[in-house]
Amino acid sequence: MNLLDGKVVKKEVLENLKKELTGVERPLGLAVIQVGEDEASKVYVRQKAKMAEDLGFNFQHIKLPEDVTESELLSKIDELNEDDKVDGILVQMPIPKHLNPSVVQNRISYLKDVDGLTDINAGCLVHNKESLVPCTPQGIIELLKYYNIELKGKNVTIIGRSDLVGKPLASLMTNKNATVTLCHSKTKNLKLFTKNADILVVAVGKAKLIKEDYVKKDAVIVDVGINRNEDGKLCGDVDFEDVKEKVSYITPVTGGVGQMTVEELERNTYKAYCLRKSLNK
Ligand code: NAD
Repeated sequence: MNLLDGKVVKKEVLENLKKELTGVERPLGLAVIQVGEDEASKVYVRQKAKMAEDLGFNFQHIKLPEDVTESELLSKIDELNEDDKVDGILVQMPIPKHLNPSVVQNRISYLKDVDGLTDINAGCLVHNKESLVPCTPQGIIELLKYYNIELKGKNVTIIGRSDLVGKPLASLMTNKNATVTLCHSKTKNLKLFTKNADILVVAVGKAKLIKEDYVKKDAVIVDVGINRNEDGKLCGDVDFEDVKEKVSYITPVTGGVGQMTVEELERNTYKAYCLRKSLNK
Protein backbone atom coordinates (compact mmCIF):
# COMPACT_ATOMS: atom_id res chain seq x y z
CA MET A 1 0.00 0.00 0.00
CA ASN A 2 1.18 3.49 -0.90
CA LEU A 3 -0.16 6.73 0.51
CA LEU A 4 -1.58 9.44 -1.70
CA ASP A 5 0.02 12.17 0.36
CA GLY A 6 -1.91 15.44 0.10
CA LYS A 7 0.76 17.40 1.98
CA VAL A 8 3.46 16.54 -0.56
CA VAL A 9 1.25 17.33 -3.56
CA LYS A 10 -0.07 20.55 -2.02
CA LYS A 11 3.49 21.78 -1.51
CA GLU A 12 4.37 21.25 -5.16
CA VAL A 13 1.13 22.78 -6.45
CA LEU A 14 1.66 25.86 -4.26
CA GLU A 15 5.26 26.26 -5.43
CA ASN A 16 4.06 26.25 -9.04
CA LEU A 17 1.29 28.72 -8.21
CA LYS A 18 3.78 31.08 -6.52
CA LYS A 19 5.86 31.11 -9.72
CA GLU A 20 2.77 32.00 -11.78
CA LEU A 21 1.82 34.74 -9.33
CA THR A 22 5.10 36.58 -9.97
CA GLY A 23 3.61 37.64 -13.33
CA VAL A 24 0.56 39.29 -11.74
CA GLU A 25 0.66 43.09 -11.46
CA ARG A 26 -1.45 43.44 -8.29
CA PRO A 27 -2.39 41.28 -5.28
CA LEU A 28 -5.22 38.92 -6.14
CA GLY A 29 -8.47 39.54 -4.28
CA LEU A 30 -10.45 36.77 -2.63
CA ALA A 31 -13.66 37.49 -0.70
CA VAL A 32 -15.36 34.95 1.56
CA ILE A 33 -18.82 35.74 2.90
CA GLN A 34 -19.79 33.96 6.10
CA VAL A 35 -23.36 34.15 7.34
CA GLY A 36 -23.94 33.34 11.02
CA GLU A 37 -21.74 31.53 13.51
CA ASP A 38 -21.39 27.95 12.23
CA GLU A 39 -18.34 26.58 14.11
CA ALA A 40 -16.99 24.39 11.27
CA SER A 41 -17.31 27.33 8.85
CA LYS A 42 -15.13 29.46 11.13
CA VAL A 43 -12.35 26.85 10.97
CA TYR A 44 -12.61 26.54 7.16
CA VAL A 45 -12.58 30.32 6.66
CA ARG A 46 -9.49 30.64 8.89
CA GLN A 47 -7.67 28.01 6.79
CA LYS A 48 -8.62 29.82 3.58
CA ALA A 49 -7.51 33.18 5.00
CA LYS A 50 -4.15 31.84 6.15
CA MET A 51 -3.22 30.31 2.82
CA ALA A 52 -4.45 33.35 0.88
CA GLU A 53 -2.40 35.69 3.06
CA ASP A 54 0.69 33.45 2.74
CA LEU A 55 0.36 33.86 -1.03
CA GLY A 56 0.04 37.66 -0.73
CA PHE A 57 -3.66 37.79 -1.67
CA ASN A 58 -5.98 40.50 -0.41
CA PHE A 59 -8.35 38.37 1.65
CA GLN A 60 -11.69 39.82 2.72
CA HIS A 61 -13.64 37.95 5.36
CA ILE A 62 -17.13 39.41 5.26
CA LYS A 63 -19.21 38.37 8.27
CA LEU A 64 -22.97 38.83 8.05
CA PRO A 65 -25.42 38.20 10.90
CA GLU A 66 -27.51 35.01 11.08
CA ASP A 67 -30.69 37.00 10.36
CA VAL A 68 -29.39 38.86 7.28
CA THR A 69 -32.09 39.12 4.60
CA GLU A 70 -31.63 37.54 1.20
CA SER A 71 -31.69 40.96 -0.48
CA GLU A 72 -28.95 42.28 1.84
CA LEU A 73 -26.78 39.26 1.07
CA LEU A 74 -27.42 39.57 -2.67
CA SER A 75 -26.50 43.29 -2.62
CA LYS A 76 -23.21 42.43 -0.91
CA ILE A 77 -22.49 39.89 -3.67
CA ASP A 78 -23.39 42.50 -6.34
CA GLU A 79 -20.93 44.93 -4.76
CA LEU A 80 -18.14 42.32 -4.88
CA ASN A 81 -19.07 41.35 -8.47
CA GLU A 82 -18.57 45.01 -9.44
CA ASP A 83 -15.27 45.42 -7.59
CA ASP A 84 -12.45 45.12 -10.12
CA LYS A 85 -9.91 44.16 -7.46
CA VAL A 86 -11.92 41.16 -6.30
CA ASP A 87 -11.06 38.09 -8.38
CA GLY A 88 -12.82 35.36 -6.44
CA ILE A 89 -15.98 35.26 -4.33
CA LEU A 90 -17.47 32.46 -2.30
CA VAL A 91 -20.26 32.14 0.21
CA GLN A 92 -19.30 29.69 2.93
CA MET A 93 -21.89 26.91 3.23
CA PRO A 94 -24.06 26.03 5.05
CA ILE A 95 -26.11 29.22 5.17
CA PRO A 96 -29.17 29.72 7.43
CA LYS A 97 -32.40 28.02 6.32
CA HIS A 98 -34.25 31.22 5.32
CA LEU A 99 -31.70 31.79 2.51
CA ASN A 100 -31.85 29.85 -0.77
CA PRO A 101 -28.35 28.48 -1.53
CA SER A 102 -29.01 28.17 -5.26
CA VAL A 103 -30.18 31.81 -5.56
CA VAL A 104 -27.20 32.99 -3.49
CA GLN A 105 -24.60 30.95 -5.39
CA ASN A 106 -25.97 31.95 -8.79
CA ARG A 107 -25.77 35.64 -7.91
CA ILE A 108 -21.95 35.35 -7.94
CA SER A 109 -20.53 36.29 -11.33
CA TYR A 110 -19.52 33.04 -13.05
CA LEU A 111 -16.14 34.68 -13.72
CA LYS A 112 -15.51 35.04 -9.96
CA ASP A 113 -17.19 31.80 -8.86
CA VAL A 114 -14.16 30.14 -7.24
CA ASP A 115 -16.31 27.38 -5.71
CA GLY A 116 -17.51 26.44 -9.22
CA LEU A 117 -21.12 26.14 -8.05
CA THR A 118 -22.98 28.49 -10.40
CA ASP A 119 -25.20 26.81 -12.98
CA ILE A 120 -22.99 28.28 -15.73
CA ASN A 121 -19.78 26.75 -14.41
CA ALA A 122 -21.48 23.45 -13.56
CA GLY A 123 -22.90 23.30 -17.12
CA CYS A 124 -19.56 24.15 -18.72
CA LEU A 125 -17.94 21.32 -16.77
CA VAL A 126 -20.49 18.81 -18.05
CA HIS A 127 -19.86 20.08 -21.60
CA ASN A 128 -16.08 19.84 -21.04
CA LYS A 129 -15.57 23.59 -21.59
CA GLU A 130 -13.12 25.84 -19.74
CA SER A 131 -14.69 26.74 -16.38
CA LEU A 132 -14.10 27.23 -12.67
CA VAL A 133 -14.39 23.76 -11.12
CA PRO A 134 -15.22 22.93 -7.46
CA CYS A 135 -12.05 22.69 -5.41
CA THR A 136 -12.27 19.21 -3.85
CA PRO A 137 -12.81 17.28 -7.11
CA GLN A 138 -10.16 19.37 -8.86
CA GLY A 139 -7.79 18.58 -5.96
CA ILE A 140 -8.48 14.85 -6.35
CA ILE A 141 -7.52 15.06 -10.03
CA GLU A 142 -4.26 16.81 -9.07
CA LEU A 143 -3.50 14.18 -6.45
CA LEU A 144 -3.96 11.32 -8.94
CA LYS A 145 -1.95 13.17 -11.58
CA TYR A 146 1.00 13.63 -9.22
CA TYR A 147 1.14 9.86 -8.59
CA ASN A 148 0.77 9.10 -12.34
CA ILE A 149 -2.51 7.30 -11.82
CA GLU A 150 -4.08 7.11 -15.24
CA LEU A 151 -7.84 7.68 -15.58
CA LYS A 152 -8.29 6.75 -19.23
CA GLY A 153 -10.13 3.44 -19.57
CA LYS A 154 -10.33 2.88 -15.79
CA ASN A 155 -13.47 1.82 -13.96
CA VAL A 156 -14.15 4.52 -11.40
CA THR A 157 -16.85 4.26 -8.77
CA ILE A 158 -17.78 7.41 -6.86
CA ILE A 159 -20.03 7.13 -3.81
CA GLY A 160 -21.88 10.40 -3.09
CA ARG A 161 -23.58 12.66 -5.64
CA SER A 162 -23.33 16.12 -4.04
CA ASP A 163 -22.96 19.21 -6.25
CA LEU A 164 -19.74 19.97 -4.39
CA VAL A 165 -17.92 16.64 -4.74
CA GLY A 166 -19.49 13.60 -6.42
CA LYS A 167 -21.25 15.12 -9.43
CA PRO A 168 -18.45 17.44 -10.58
CA LEU A 169 -15.89 14.68 -10.01
CA ALA A 170 -17.95 12.32 -12.18
CA SER A 171 -17.85 14.92 -14.99
CA LEU A 172 -14.13 15.61 -14.57
CA MET A 173 -13.29 11.92 -14.71
CA THR A 174 -15.66 11.22 -17.62
CA ASN A 175 -13.95 14.08 -19.49
CA LYS A 176 -10.67 12.27 -18.84
CA ASN A 177 -12.03 9.08 -20.40
CA ALA A 178 -12.70 7.06 -17.27
CA THR A 179 -15.82 4.88 -17.11
CA VAL A 180 -17.64 6.37 -14.15
CA THR A 181 -20.36 4.90 -11.94
CA LEU A 182 -21.98 7.36 -9.54
CA CYS A 183 -23.53 5.73 -6.46
CA HIS A 184 -25.66 7.33 -3.73
CA SER A 185 -27.98 6.62 -0.83
CA LYS A 186 -30.57 4.91 -3.06
CA THR A 187 -28.06 2.63 -4.80
CA LYS A 188 -28.95 -1.03 -4.39
CA ASN A 189 -26.13 -3.49 -3.73
CA LEU A 190 -23.36 -0.91 -3.39
CA LYS A 191 -20.73 -3.64 -3.16
CA LEU A 192 -21.44 -4.73 -6.73
CA PHE A 193 -20.13 -1.36 -7.94
CA THR A 194 -17.31 -0.82 -5.46
CA LYS A 195 -15.79 -4.26 -6.08
CA ASN A 196 -15.55 -3.50 -9.79
CA ALA A 197 -13.69 -0.21 -9.26
CA ASP A 198 -10.06 0.31 -10.24
CA ILE A 199 -10.44 3.68 -8.52
CA LEU A 200 -12.95 4.09 -5.68
CA VAL A 201 -13.84 7.56 -4.40
CA VAL A 202 -15.94 7.78 -1.25
CA ALA A 203 -17.66 11.07 -0.38
CA VAL A 204 -20.52 10.18 1.92
CA GLY A 205 -19.86 11.38 5.47
CA LYS A 206 -20.27 8.02 7.26
CA ALA A 207 -17.34 6.85 9.36
CA LYS A 208 -15.67 3.64 8.15
CA LEU A 209 -18.54 2.76 5.76
CA ILE A 210 -16.17 0.97 3.37
CA LYS A 211 -14.52 -2.23 4.61
CA GLU A 212 -12.09 -4.66 3.03
CA ASP A 213 -14.82 -6.76 1.39
CA TYR A 214 -16.03 -3.71 -0.59
CA VAL A 215 -12.77 -3.11 -2.45
CA LYS A 216 -11.05 -4.77 -5.37
CA LYS A 217 -7.49 -6.01 -4.88
CA ASP A 218 -4.93 -3.31 -5.80
CA ALA A 219 -7.61 -0.62 -6.17
CA VAL A 220 -6.83 3.07 -5.67
CA ILE A 221 -8.89 4.52 -2.83
CA VAL A 222 -9.71 8.21 -2.45
CA ASP A 223 -11.40 8.92 0.87
CA VAL A 224 -13.10 12.33 0.93
CA GLY A 225 -15.12 11.87 4.11
CA ILE A 226 -14.37 13.73 7.30
CA ASN A 227 -16.04 12.24 10.37
CA ARG A 228 -15.45 12.04 14.11
CA ASN A 229 -15.18 8.50 15.46
CA GLU A 230 -16.12 7.30 18.98
CA ASP A 231 -12.97 8.68 20.63
CA GLY A 232 -13.39 12.12 19.04
CA LYS A 233 -10.63 11.65 16.43
CA LEU A 234 -11.13 12.51 12.75
CA CYS A 235 -11.61 9.57 10.40
CA GLY A 236 -12.68 8.97 6.82
CA ASP A 237 -15.50 7.04 5.15
CA VAL A 238 -13.10 4.15 4.50
CA ASP A 239 -11.87 1.83 7.24
CA PHE A 240 -8.18 2.51 6.58
CA GLU A 241 -6.79 -0.28 8.81
CA ASP A 242 -9.17 -2.84 7.31
CA VAL A 243 -8.41 -2.10 3.63
CA LYS A 244 -4.77 -1.02 3.70
CA GLU A 245 -3.20 -4.44 2.91
CA LYS A 246 -5.48 -4.99 -0.07
CA VAL A 247 -5.18 -1.70 -1.97
CA SER A 248 -2.40 -0.17 -4.07
CA TYR A 249 -2.91 3.49 -3.08
CA ILE A 250 -5.02 5.24 -0.47
CA THR A 251 -5.48 8.78 0.84
CA PRO A 252 -5.05 9.14 4.60
CA VAL A 253 -7.59 11.10 6.66
CA THR A 254 -6.21 13.56 7.62
CA GLY A 255 -3.39 14.52 5.22
CA GLY A 256 -5.08 13.43 1.99
CA VAL A 257 -7.89 15.10 0.03
CA GLY A 258 -8.48 17.79 2.67
CA GLN A 259 -4.99 19.18 2.04
CA MET A 260 -5.86 19.79 -1.60
CA THR A 261 -9.17 21.61 -1.19
CA VAL A 262 -7.92 24.96 0.16
CA GLU A 263 -4.94 25.11 -2.16
CA GLU A 264 -7.30 24.58 -5.12
CA LEU A 265 -9.34 27.57 -3.95
CA GLU A 266 -6.25 29.77 -4.23
CA ARG A 267 -5.51 28.26 -7.65
CA ASN A 268 -9.07 28.95 -8.75
CA THR A 269 -8.66 32.58 -7.67
CA TYR A 270 -5.67 32.87 -10.00
CA LYS A 271 -7.60 31.07 -12.75
CA ALA A 272 -10.53 33.49 -12.28
CA TYR A 273 -8.13 36.44 -12.57
CA CYS A 274 -6.67 35.02 -15.80
CA LEU A 275 -10.11 34.28 -17.22
CA ARG A 276 -11.37 37.83 -16.58
CA LYS A 277 -8.16 39.30 -17.97
CA SER A 278 -8.44 37.25 -21.16
CA LEU A 279 -11.98 38.58 -21.64
CA ASN A 280 -11.01 42.17 -20.71
CA LYS A 281 -13.67 42.20 -17.97
P1 NAD B 1 -23.46 15.45 1.14
O1 NAD B 1 -24.10 15.17 2.46
O2 NAD B 1 -23.90 16.62 0.35
O3 NAD B 1 -23.62 14.15 0.22
C1 NAD B 1 -23.48 12.86 0.73
C2 NAD B 1 -23.77 11.86 -0.38
O4 NAD B 1 -23.63 10.56 0.14
C3 NAD B 1 -25.20 11.96 -0.96
O5 NAD B 1 -25.12 12.02 -2.36
C4 NAD B 1 -25.88 10.67 -0.51
O6 NAD B 1 -26.78 10.17 -1.48
C5 NAD B 1 -24.71 9.74 -0.32
N1 NAD B 1 -24.96 8.71 0.72
C6 NAD B 1 -25.40 8.90 1.97
N2 NAD B 1 -25.48 7.72 2.61
C7 NAD B 1 -25.07 6.77 1.75
C8 NAD B 1 -24.92 5.36 1.82
N3 NAD B 1 -25.20 4.69 2.94
N4 NAD B 1 -24.48 4.71 0.73
C9 NAD B 1 -24.18 5.37 -0.42
N5 NAD B 1 -24.29 6.72 -0.53
C10 NAD B 1 -24.73 7.39 0.52
O7 NAD B 1 -21.92 15.47 1.45
P2 NAD B 1 -20.63 16.16 0.70
O8 NAD B 1 -20.68 17.62 0.87
O9 NAD B 1 -20.44 15.59 -0.66
O10 NAD B 1 -19.51 15.57 1.67
C11 NAD B 1 -19.29 14.18 1.84
C12 NAD B 1 -18.21 13.98 2.88
O11 NAD B 1 -17.01 14.57 2.40
C13 NAD B 1 -18.47 14.64 4.24
O12 NAD B 1 -17.88 13.84 5.24
C14 NAD B 1 -17.73 15.96 4.14
O13 NAD B 1 -17.33 16.45 5.41
C15 NAD B 1 -16.54 15.53 3.33
N6 NAD B 1 -15.91 16.61 2.54
C16 NAD B 1 -14.57 16.70 2.63
C17 NAD B 1 -13.90 17.65 1.88
C18 NAD B 1 -12.42 17.71 1.96
O14 NAD B 1 -11.83 18.72 1.59
N7 NAD B 1 -11.77 16.63 2.41
C19 NAD B 1 -14.61 18.53 1.05
C20 NAD B 1 -16.00 18.38 0.96
C21 NAD B 1 -16.64 17.41 1.71
